[in-house]
Amino acid sequence: MQFAKRLQNVETSAIREIFKLLGTPGIISFAGGFPDAALFDREGLAEAARKAVLEQPAASLQYGPTEGYQPLREQITSRLHEQGAQVAPADVLVTTGSQQALDLLGKTLLSPGDKVLVEGPTFLATIQCFRLYGAEVISVPTDGDGVQVDALERLIAEHRPRLVYLIPTFGNPSGSLLPLARRRRVLELAAQHRVVVVEDNPYGELYFDELPPATLLALSATVPGSRDWLVYCGSFSKILSPGLRLGWMVAPAALLANAVMCKQFSDANSSMLAQVTASEYLQTGRLAATLTNVQQVYAERARLMMERLRAELGEALAFTPPRGGMFIWARLTGAGGRSGDAAAFVRRGIEQGVAVVPGLPFYATEPDPATFRMSYATVPDEKIIEGVQRLARAL
Ligand code: PMP
Repeated sequence: MQFAKRLQNVETSAIREIFKLLGTPGIISFAGGFPDAALFDREGLAEAARKAVLEQPAASLQYGPTEGYQPLREQITSRLHEQGAQVAPADVLVTTGSQQALDLLGKTLLSPGDKVLVEGPTFLATIQCFRLYGAEVISVPTDGDGVQVDALERLIAEHRPRLVYLIPTFGNPSGSLLPLARRRRVLELAAQHRVVVVEDNPYGELYFDELPPATLLALSATVPGSRDWLVYCGSFSKILSPGLRLGWMVAPAALLANAVMCKQFSDANSSMLAQVTASEYLQTGRLAATLTNVQQVYAERARLMMERLRAELGEALAFTPPRGGMFIWARLTGAGGRSGDAAAFVRRGIEQGVAVVPGLPFYATEPDPATFRMSYATVPDEKIIEGVQRLARAL
């Protein structure tokens, strides 16, 4: 069978190979990217789903508007207001996970040969999604504080990218948090160079101790001209449940209209059953308590994992302590004459019964082969302790 030429731009993800091994009995996995299913508010969601079906059948069981279920768009808008962003319901497109928002951005903005700048490292599926539309995806150097804005400016001037994709708050896989001054600079660059900046923010509400700096979306009100170039992607996946497959995109009107048109040809509307359920759920006010619980559990697991890593692997490992989100991004320093080859380390880890993800596939260009990603989100304390011991043996 002859497939579309665009498929030549992508390959199945290298980390799938790791995921195949996760079925091995006894393996402790820090490799996953899922939220902890034990923290889903099953009772609250069951009640909301029941209400959606029995009390709102005309909405929940019927086709709906492509833009999204209006009450949900309003609820998303008011949550964004609480986070300091000036948005109207008409600026919000409900999407089938934020993954669909990324796909719609590819569809509406990218032509073959266009350039896209992303953080090195960044979310793997974004690299693949943009490549599928023929884009050349280029990494911008990062440090423990996220993207380096001087490098970003230089690469924008050099490549004239169609868009810049960033995860400023608790990135996947980096876990890093972009400081306020850098956020301002990103917005200034967007306005000055007239380049679309995408803020992907599925983890922003999973902070541990203090609130992260304001989102680019909120800050855009204070940087003249930046809002015209800013796209914001949000998601219910990490704060409520990924099974709902619900996210949203906030974008300038012309871009949003094109995204709505493309979505019409794709899935017509995101599941109305999911949208009405989410809307009923938000109305109960239970999300605040659910979220607090998730924050606390992840914070404790992150602290334990960091403490064990420092104790067991010491200076062989460098990482910036995450202040939220689900990931620790680490680098083998090569201290003590050890190899800084994370791929070999990951293989030895599997032999010892612990899985982490090698960093290489998270880089669009210029990979750092000494890096790897760990998630603490789904791992109970005793397994964190045992898993880190196994990592130390692998080292
Ligand atoms: N963006 C990032 C950075 C992610 O990590 C994920 C999921 N792991 C997504 C987008 C997609 O999430 P969803 O489609 O479930 O909203």
